[in-house]
Amino acid sequence: MLVVMQPNASAADIEKVCDEIVRQGFKPLPMPGAVRTAIGLLGDDAQVDWSYIEGLPNVANVLIVQKPYRQASREWKNENTIVEIAPGVRVGGSDVVVFAGPCSVESEAQILASAHAVRNAGAHALRGGAFKPRSSPYAFQGLGLEGLKLLALARNETGLAIVTEAMDERGADMVAEYADCIQIGARNMQNYSLLRHVGKLGKPVLLKRGMAATINDLLLSAEYVLSEGNPNVILCERGVRTFDSATRNLFDLTAIPVVQKLSHLPIVADPSHGTGLRDKVTPMARAAVAAGADGILVEVHPTPDKALSDGAQSLYPEQFTELVRQLRLIAGAIDRELAPTPPMPAA
Ligand code: PEP
Ligand code: MN
Repeated sequence: MLVVMQPNASAADIEKVCDEIVRQGFKPLPMPGAVRTAIGLLGDDAQVDWSYIEGLPNVANVLIVQKPYRQASREWKNENTIVEIAPGVRVGGSDVVVFAGPCSVESEAQILASAHAVRNAGAHALRGGAFKPRSSPYAFQGLGLEGLKLLALARNETGLAIVTEAMDERGADMVAEYADCIQIGARNMQNYSLLRHVGKLGKPVLLKRGMAATINDLLLSAEYVLSEGNPNVILCERGVRTFDSATRNLFDLTAIPVVQKLSHLPIVADPSHGTGLRDKVTPMARAAVAAGADGILVEVHPTPDKALSDGAQSLYPEQFTELVRQLRLIAGAIDRELAPTPPMPAA
């Protein structure tokens, strides 16, 4: 941390800042310049109350030099983290992992048809919501526990890993019981008590970027989970809100290389919520793999026109099959491969 003083700061102002740094348990290092003085702070500054220092007389600004997140950073751990969500389904290594399925679990027939379709196309994980965060309280809210049971049934039939969203702490306990990986959705990325809770559950977490969250915010949210002792966090870029209504969100592909430079955590991309429109999903999924995403999360529905949520962005199974074929080629072009399909469960 570096405290930059105003050019007119007096010796007493500088001393006040130094005293405050000492009071907080650190060592100040004043660096007088031709025009102004800067004061460095020695020691591990994660705990410093910098906002108080910023409010002292004639402080121009406070520069946070060290990253505010610790365990999520490359400084903390240089080698890539690989999160194994189910035996053999490893996210963050050289293999690209495909998460696919309907936005919501709607019925036994629908989820089983979805699971078989995405597995046959080459997916590794079935992703579908039992607890749905809908903008309207009158919209379909998901089947809840019944949906979790149907997902577990689909796993038994297809061998796919199961990823599904939890919206609150009680739901997270239920999801942890039935699923392989707990999704925290965009709306809950900053629900810090929920993040701490899933940090304690020990299941892998798929953490989606909030719709108005910076990459720094996303990594700080991951830090909540990591700091509770759960190292298995997968980040997910799913687009952010902007002024343009041409697509549902602005799918921020740059986030992939940015995160990979800052963090060792795997990052996957969700072009379905990122674009909101079926015909944009395939090109952006291809682009995300080309950009280095560790996986892709795509909504696929056996009959998208009848879907209870997000039908407009859901791929038809045939479109998804063709997409996976293309992703295999793109992964190969950047010296990666699609992960092997999980084995079928023994009958
Ligand atoms: C979802 O994954 O179905 C979902 C609701 O996504 P997001 O949290 O990214 O809006
Ligand atoms: Mn959805």
